[in-house]
Amino acid sequence: MQGGNAERLFIPESTDEIAAILRDANEQGISVTISGARTGTVGGSIPFGGYVISLERLNKIKSIDNDAKLAVVEPGVILGELQKAVEADGLFYPPDPTEWSCQIGGTVATNASGARSFKYGATREYVQRLTVVLASGDLVNIRRGEYVSSDEGVIVIGETSIRVPTYERPNVRKNVSGYFNAQPLDAIDLFIGSEGTLGVITEIELSLLPKPEGFFSGIVFFDHEVDLLAFVDAARDASFSSAKNPVAIAPGSDHQMALDASLIEYFDSNALKFIAEKFPETPDAAGAIFFEQETTDNTEDALLEQWNKLLETHNADLENSWFATNAQDREKMRAFRHALPLAANERYSRSGFRKISSDMAVPVGEFRSLLKFYEDQCGPSGIDHVIFGHIGDCHLHLNLFPKNIEENERARHIYGRCIAHAIMLGGCVSAEHGIGKLKRKYLAAMMGERYLNEMADIKRAFDPKRILGRGNMFDESYL
Ligand SMILES: Cc1cc2nc3c(=O)[nH]c(=O)nc-3n(C[C@H](O)[C@H](O)[C@H](O)COP(=O)(O)OP(=O)(O)OC[C@H]3O[C@@H](n4cnc5c(N)ncnc54)[C@H](O)[C@@H]3O)c2cc1C
Repeated sequence: MQGGNAERLFIPESTDEIAAILRDANEQGISVTISGARTGTVGGSIPFGGYVISLERLNKIKSIDNDAKLAVVEPGVILGELQKAVEADGLFYPPDPTEWSCQIGGTVATNASGARSFKYGATREYVQRLTVVLASGDLVNIRRGEYVSSDEGVIVIGETSIRVPTYERPNVRKNVSGYFNAQPLDAIDLFIGSEGTLGVITEIELSLLPKPEGFFSGIVFFDHEVDLLAFVDAARDASFSSAKNPVAIAPGSDHQMALDASLIEYFDSNALKFIAEKFPETPDAAGAIFFEQETTDNTEDALLEQWNKLLETHNADLENSWFATNAQDREKMRAFRHALPLAANERYSRSGFRKISSDMAVPVGEFRSLLKFYEDQCGPSGIDHVIFGHIGDCHLHLNLFPKNIEENERARHIYGRCIAHAIMLGGCVSAEHGIGKLKRKYLAAMMGERYLNEMADIKRAFDPKRILGRGNMFDESYL
C-alpha cells in the first residue's frame, strides 16, 4: 500500500509505556496504528494520521522452557530469530509465513500461516497466552481456556462484555477474513488475527514442538496438469488420513508408515518460467509440486518408497525431478520456492504497475473449479500472470502483472470476478494475508452487512472511541 502519514511515532520499551500512550490517545480520541515489522501485504500497519506505536524495541525472548515446550516472547521478536533460538534447543516453532523478518506480534495479529501450515496449522494453534493493552490503557492477560463464551454466546473480560458473532465460518482449511468465531469462543482466539483493531499485544506464550529428526523433500515436475492434480489429491488424502490415524513407529520396527506431507506447494508453468530466470536448470513443464515429509531413521526408507510409488502412479517426470534428504539440498529447494515472489517483485518494479495478487481459499471439493476459473480468466487475457502456492490447503495465489493502464483495468476486473467466484464456491477472501486496508470491500462482499455489524459491535466494546487500527478490516461507516 502506498502513502501513509502520522503525527507521532512512539518506540516504547515496556508494556507500561504502551499503556500510558494509549491512555493519552484514548482521552484525546487520537488514532493509533500498531506497527510490527511492516511485512504485511494489506496495509494493516500503514497509518493515516494519528500515532504509530512500533514494537521493535520490545524484542526479548523471555524464556524457552524445553521441558514444558513453551516460549515466552515480547511481540517485537523477529520470527527467524525465534525459530533459530528454539531449534538450538532441539525444539521447533512451525508457523512460517515465508517472510522471516516479520515480528511474532505481527504474526499473532494476522494469524499468519504458510506452506507448512498444511501439517502444523496456523499461528493460532501455538498461542497459549497473550498480554494485551486495550485502547483504554488497561491490561488484560488472557490464557487459553480462561475466558470462554457462555451457552448464550457471551464473553466477559474485565468490564467488557461481548457477544460471539453468529456467522458460519467457511469450510476452508485457512481463513483470516474477519474476527474469528466459534461456539464456544475462547477470547484469546478473538485477539489472534484481529489485525491491530482490538488491542496491542505485548507478551506472547507459544507452545513448541520437538524438532523433527529429518525431512524428505521433493520438487517434482509434471508434463500434464491432470496428472499433477491427481497426485495432489492422492497426497492430500493420504496425509489427512495419517493425521487422523497417526501410526507410532517403535524403534527397529519395519512397520510401513503412511505418508504424511508437511507441505504441498504448486507452481504453474508460468511460475516455472519466472523461476528459471534464477534457476536456469528448471525444466519446461506443465507444472511442479514441492512437497516435504518428516522422517526418522526408522521411517525414511519406507516413506521414500511410498512417495516414489505415488509419483510413478501419477506420471511425474522423475528423471528431471529433484529430491533432498539433507539440510543443504533442502535449503536449495526453499530458495527455489522463494525465487518466485522475488522474480515476481522484480517484474513488477520494472513495469511500474502494482501486481494484483489473490489470497482466496475454497473448500477441498471446490478447488478444481477455482483453479479452472483462474486459468479460464487469465489464459486468454494475454496479461502476464502466475499461479502458485499452498495447493495442499486449496489456497493458491494468482498474481497478475499488468504492463499498462488498459491491462491494469482488465486485471482488476479479472481479480474481482475471481473473488466473486471463490465466495460463490463457499470460500474466503483472505486465507493468510488478512484484510487490512486493502481488502475491506471484499470482506463486506463475503460477510454482508449483518455480520460486519456483529464484528463492529465487538470492536466498539473494546475500543469505544475507535482509536486502534483505524481503517483496518471494516469501513468507518460500520463503526
Ligand atoms: C514476501 C512475503 C511473503 C509472505 N508470505 C506470507 C505467507 O505465506 N503467509 C502469511 O500468513 N503471511 C505472509 N506474508 C505476510 C505476513 O502477514 C507477514 O509476514 C506477518 O505476519 C506480519 O508481521 P509484521 O511483524 O510484519 O506485522 P505488520 O505488517 O507490521 O502488521 C500486520 C498487522 O498486525 C498488526 N500488529 C502488528 N504487531 C502487533 C501487535 N504487537 N499487537 C497488535 N497488532 C499488531 C498491525 O497493526 C497490522 O494490522 C508475507 C509477506 C511477504 C512480504
